[in-house]
Amino acid sequence: MRMLLILGALLMPAATAEAQPNTDWKLVVHGGAGTIERSKMTPQKDSAIRAALNRALETGSRILSSGGAALDAVEATVRVLEDDPNFNAGRGAVFTYDETHELDASIMDGRTRAAGAVAAVSATRNPIGLARAVMEKSPHVFLAGKGADRFSAEQGLPQVPNSYFSTPDRRRQLDAFKTKKVSALEIEYKYGTVGAVALDAKGHLAAATSTGGTTGKRWGRIGDSPVIGAGTYADDRACAVSATGTGEYFIRAGAAHEICARIRLKGEAPQVAADAVIKEIGGLGGDGGVIVLTPRGERVYSFNTKGMYRGMADKAGRSVAIYGDDDER
Ligand code: ASP
Repeated sequence: MRMLLILGALLMPAATAEAQPNTDWKLVVHGGAGTIERSKMTPQKDSAIRAALNRALETGSRILSSGGAALDAVEATVRVLEDDPNFNAGRGAVFTYDETHELDASIMDGRTRAAGAVAAVSATRNPIGLARAVMEKSPHVFLAGKGADRFSAEQGLPQVPNSYFSTPDRRRQLDAFKTKKVSALEIEYKYGTVGAVALDAKGHLAAATSTGGTTGKRWGRIGDSPVIGAGTYADDRACAVSATGTGEYFIRAGAAHEICARIRLKGEAPQVAADAVIKEIGGLGGDGGVIVLTPRGERVYSFNTKGMYRGMADKAGRSVAIYGDDDER
């Protein structure tokens, strides 16, 4: 009998295991994927990105190492990157075709699968905080546009003029976009979306993603980042995912949920599941990447672009990487 029980435990796929108390917290972050090559980066930009990723990881780690919740950690981590003008989220968001900023964000709690998302918001300083407010203070999951802006003001969240998000670099990208008439999906013109996934000491997962979308987007375009199941997903039974890339393809693949479903239902190893979905997206014509974290603390990066701003932290320390061939712990 005992033998049978042990055998049963060994055979049980990881995905069906209940979240166990787990003192080994972990935090993983991304700052966008794209044509990120050494030859295209200045040393200043390289170190600014690494410093920002480290700051974000440090902020989330402080919460996790003191026993805080994964949900609080991913929100705090993403806020740091939203406030940093180097990333396409919050300040530093790309311009729409009409020279404004429309921000998208989402957050999900793997413990309950509660989720909150906002699309095309224009005045909330930290859209990730608004996504969380939607999750916790409204009966809804997804609010968009003017209504979401109104909800944000009613909740008393810090408001900023739309020009707060503008930076000279992003304006140059819009000018280049308009002169060259490149597609709004051109990866080169938008990278810098940010996201985080975390596992807390209680064994719970959470995921968060925030973006300005794609340079020159029109007609109220919304990408994958605020779409639960596409750009963001968290489920304690499987994994937490945050994606970055050409959102249209990630939506069509149901990317984040698909990765979790493969792990939960097929028992696939997380790297196998993530690589398969990124490959599928590549096959459709999309570019980008994902960060994935499981309840057992397995951390995965998968991307089909030259690079992805990324990093992780746990009790053993921190590491950040930019290029495809960067060392990763
Ligand atoms: N996925 C984002 C979007 O399509 C952009 C990005 O991640 O670079 O809006």
